[in-house]
Amino acid sequence: MDERLNLLPCGYFVLTSDWEFVEMNKTMQDILRLNKMPRHMHDVLTVPSRIYFQTYFVPSISVHHEVREMYLNFKVDKRTVPVLMNVSERDGLYEGVIVQIKVRDEYENQLLKSKKEAERIQQRTDEAYNKLLGLLEEVEYKQQQLLELNGELQELATRDELTGLYNRRVFQRSLDAAIDRAEHYEARSFSLLLFDIDHFKTVNDTHGHQVGDDVLKELACKLENRIDSPDLVARIGGEEFAVLFDDPNHQNNCTKAEGLRRYIQDSEWVNIAITVSMGITSYQDGDQSSHIYVRADDAQYTSKRNGRNCLTCL
Ligand code: GH3
Ligand code: MG
Ligand code: MG
Repeated sequence: MDERLNLLPCGYFVLTSDWEFVEMNKTMQDILRLNKMPRHMHDVLTVPSRIYFQTYFVPSISVHHEVREMYLNFKVDKRTVPVLMNVSERDGLYEGVIVQIKVRDEYENQLLKSKKEAERIQQRTDEAYNKLLGLLEEVEYKQQQLLELNGELQELATRDELTGLYNRRVFQRSLDAAIDRAEHYEARSFSLLLFDIDHFKTVNDTHGHQVGDDVLKELACKLENRIDSPDLVARIGGEEFAVLFDDPNHQNNCTKAEGLRRYIQDSEWVNIAITVSMGITSYQDGDQSSHIYVRADDAQYTSKRNGRNCLTCL
């Protein structure tokens, strides 16, 4: 073989139509790390490349008489050497060159590895994101539950269990707030009405405690219907109730209280008809809550003493 062909910077070979080597330059022998020329093309290919050679190269060259840039792997000392191969048919023989593509192959492998790593990271990010979304949903759900629980607690803390009316705590807070307002704005007076069911013990004793409870609930309904904000009604004891009238005009509040007493006296009762004894007073300069409360309570007892089912205005 021509010495220059022998030392070409690529592998050069000639094959028969049975794919046996006829010639091979030194560069190709060096790539294959062989001292002598192998017999058959199959002898130097890895198993997958051998299959590829038979199924792609052989039919392709018989049709086109040449094959360009075919990617193959040579088997060299149990290692794989990737090459690109060009082969042309000439005078019944097949002349070919191969170029090692180790660098490109490594580069491609590296790229593939980086791509896989990127995909793995992406997948982990997606998983973490989904987990975060799940956690956020859970937090939202818990917050909602907390809000509902707070609402229920608020309800429990402010409402009387039997009647659903405001309880004594709310009444006391509202009375303090009303006194605060009255102290700051001179003309801003208000009235406090206390009332107590007449002979309620007899209702219990005659009809039973359950009927007594039902009467209390029915009265609560009537009160809710008759008393609107900013006035406030509360159950402050067993069969004792209080109303804070917001109107600064005491006379108007007395009229409203008398209207309420009459309504209780005259309205239809599903259970047992009852009446109430009432006492009302208005805020006086310098009043503390106990002062105004005691005055209203005294007024209420005056009504009891005067035969019940009436209103005493102070
Ligand atoms: P007066 O006209 O003087 O107010 O007479 P009274 O019978 O209403 O007064 P008393 O204080 O002797 O009785 C109040 C009754 O109210 C006694 C108690 O058993 C009843 N009572 C208090 N709270 C409840 C309740 O939640 N349910 C029922 N069924 N009865 C209650
Ligand atoms: Mg009482
Ligand atoms: Mg009573």
